[in-house]
Amino acid sequence: MLKQGDEKITSNKLFGTNGIRGLTNKELTPEIAVKVGSAIGTFFGNKNLLIGHDARTSGPMFAKAVISGLTATGCNVFFAGMASTPALQYAVKNHRMDGGVIITASHNPPEYNGIKVIWKDGVEISHEQETQIENTYFQNKTVFAEWNKLGAKHELASINDEYINAIKNHINIPEIASKKYHVLVDAANSVGGLATPKLLRELGCKVTTINANIDGTFPGRMPEPRPENLQEMAATVKAVGADLGVAFDGDADRSIFVGENGEIYWGDKTFAIVEKQFLMENPNAKIVTPVSSSTLIKDVAEVYKGEIVWTKVGSVTVSQTMKEVKAKLGGEENGGVFYGPHQAVRDGAMTTALILGIMAKTGKKLSELISEQPQYFIEKGKVECPEDKKEKVHKKLLEQVKGANVSTIDGVKIWFEDKSAILVRPSGTEPAYRLYAEAKNQEKALKLVKDYSITLKQILATI
Ligand code: MG
Repeated sequence: MLKQGDEKITSNKLFGTNGIRGLTNKELTPEIAVKVGSAIGTFFGNKNLLIGHDARTSGPMFAKAVISGLTATGCNVFFAGMASTPALQYAVKNHRMDGGVIITASHNPPEYNGIKVIWKDGVEISHEQETQIENTYFQNKTVFAEWNKLGAKHELASINDEYINAIKNHINIPEIASKKYHVLVDAANSVGGLATPKLLRELGCKVTTINANIDGTFPGRMPEPRPENLQEMAATVKAVGADLGVAFDGDADRSIFVGENGEIYWGDKTFAIVEKQFLMENPNAKIVTPVSSSTLIKDVAEVYKGEIVWTKVGSVTVSQTMKEVKAKLGGEENGGVFYGPHQAVRDGAMTTALILGIMAKTGKKLSELISEQPQYFIEKGKVECPEDKKEKVHKKLLEQVKGANVSTIDGVKIWFEDKSAILVRPSGTEPAYRLYAEAKNQEKALKLVKDYSITLKQILATI
């Protein structure tokens, strides 16, 4: 069992799209975590780093292992204990740390864990910086400290309260409080329950929680906030007559919302609400979003005079692009909203406060805000494709769609005249291509997935 995991993680790559991720004690072991910790410590070099973990059962174990590796290289570690990813990211910046480490596997099931590395501004390090850590790890270039220059470990409590206060600086508290909203929070039995319920009470809301007891086995639901995992929460919103429901993933950086009608809205739709309000207040602003996002984001930018900056899929790329182009807002279809005036990272509690702020300002229910938007139908598909053929398929597909409105930022995205679009993208984790289509009606979205699946299969038959 251990051998199998070791082979996977030590082959040549540690970092995926969102940090290091693996099955506890199979792919990611304490031994690996110590070595990763010392590689991270070598990368920073005798600096002050903040570390915390989510609610997974393996969190304290991996935190201790990473702390050993970090202090062995002379880094001083400030331990925040259990914290959400955005709370820890904010604290790195607020306490002028040189960086940070978060032990989390985000939306993955409880048997997984992972390691994310944070730069001093609170944003996850770039993929180039990850490569530096990987090189140290695989080439055994760790620089250990002398016995009398080892790093020290300190405790740093209360990052949760300073995070809550920071969010409150960005919203109109009396306006929200005057509405006396009733909000349901589904915390996924993890760190999502640490900040948001308290924040909402301080905003004058009545709060009802489900899955808010911390339990690293995640007995309530799987931590990915997908519609199939949120049925209980949607039903509860209706049952208790709440104005809004919000569900987080395992480290509370992503948030998915449910309207007062019990309807679950995918991230594109709620991001578009935030985008519209932001552009009304900041005309001509840049909006950063991956090519996997709905045309809805583009529609809102066109009407409210924003400039879309498309990126590859992945939150690290969105954050890094926001830094590069000095954008103050970013968003993903999976429920990640990056509100730059607070911090250029996904932040579930901040997003909840923004949505409530817009509801209060407009006096509209979430369902009303959603129904004002252009409507799109989304369909997805998958076509098996061996790893060694992915590149050839990409080239052939590009030849076939020549002349169309195409983006090759990540896979091949084609926008059509009738406002439909399709993204054909190689899976990062499976030998397959994934297809994401959207259109003004369901038949067209289905047809796009069908047509391009056939095209991919035809290409595969010729190479
Ligand atoms: Mg997450």
